[in-house]
Amino acid sequence: MVTIKDLRKRFGDLEVLKGVNMEVKKGEVVVILGPSGSGKSTILRCINRLEEPTSGQIIIDDIEVTNPRTDINKVRQRVGMVFQQFNLFPHMTALQNITLAPMKVQKKSKQEAEKIGLELLKKVGLLDKANSYPMQLSGGQQQRVAIARALAMRPDVMLFDEVTSALDPELVKEVLDVMKNLAMDGMTMIVVTHEMNFAKEVGDRIILIDGGVIVEENTPDQFFTNPQHERTKRFLNMIK
Ligand code: ATP
Ligand code: MG
Repeated sequence: MVTIKDLRKRFGDLEVLKGVNMEVKKGEVVVILGPSGSGKSTILRCINRLEEPTSGQIIIDDIEVTNPRTDINKVRQRVGMVFQQFNLFPHMTALQNITLAPMKVQKKSKQEAEKIGLELLKKVGLLDKANSYPMQLSGGQQQRVAIARALAMRPDVMLFDEVTSALDPELVKEVLDVMKNLAMDGMTMIVVTHEMNFAKEVGDRIILIDGGVIVEENTPDQFFTNPQHERTKRFLNMIK
């Protein structure tokens, strides 16, 4: 589904990604862990070309994301992304936030877009908040709307970048539960998170990145109980 080959990215003199190789199969949940500044967000941002890779190849299904001739808007329709900051449009209701792109980009009718939007709001447990504005919603609710908004484009793969990091602790679970359900529905997901329980429980594979390279790639079971690399052991000790 997603293939990343020798991905490199530099910002000026700083080489942030130094040859990352990764393969994510359809329906798989891959969790990326790593210390601050290790390049986790940069990988996700390269996947939908919010950052331009310096070199390397990214392929999603049959689309070569890194080919300069590829229409980037096509890529972004296939890849949903949710960030730490929810970035909802403040002057639009939850439902309007969700229906905007299907109407504008996919040229769906308002009626059709709203049908999908209401379905998705139901899925994230917020059907009763369809007409609420972001400022009337809690952080956890806003983040669930943001997930629904990304899903409205019917993406093939979803990227999550520390989507619970800005939330009050009591709001984290409701967002992780939505992600867990999505995983159980078979969505292909790449998840950057600090939530180790989520990584253990929902991840099919864990990748530890440090200094712009993949240090270890393993099943959650092996990763947390029998790490192969000294660096992984140090990382796990640090977060305990
Ligand atoms: P965190 O856990 O803190 O979110 P991260 O693993 O997501 O960290 P990245 O955001 O990918 O790390 O950043 C990796 C490195 O690249 C950092 O040193 C960062 O300062 C640098 N960097 C990221 N974006 C840019 C940019 N637009 N210009 C210059 N340097 C950047
Ligand atoms: Mg980051």
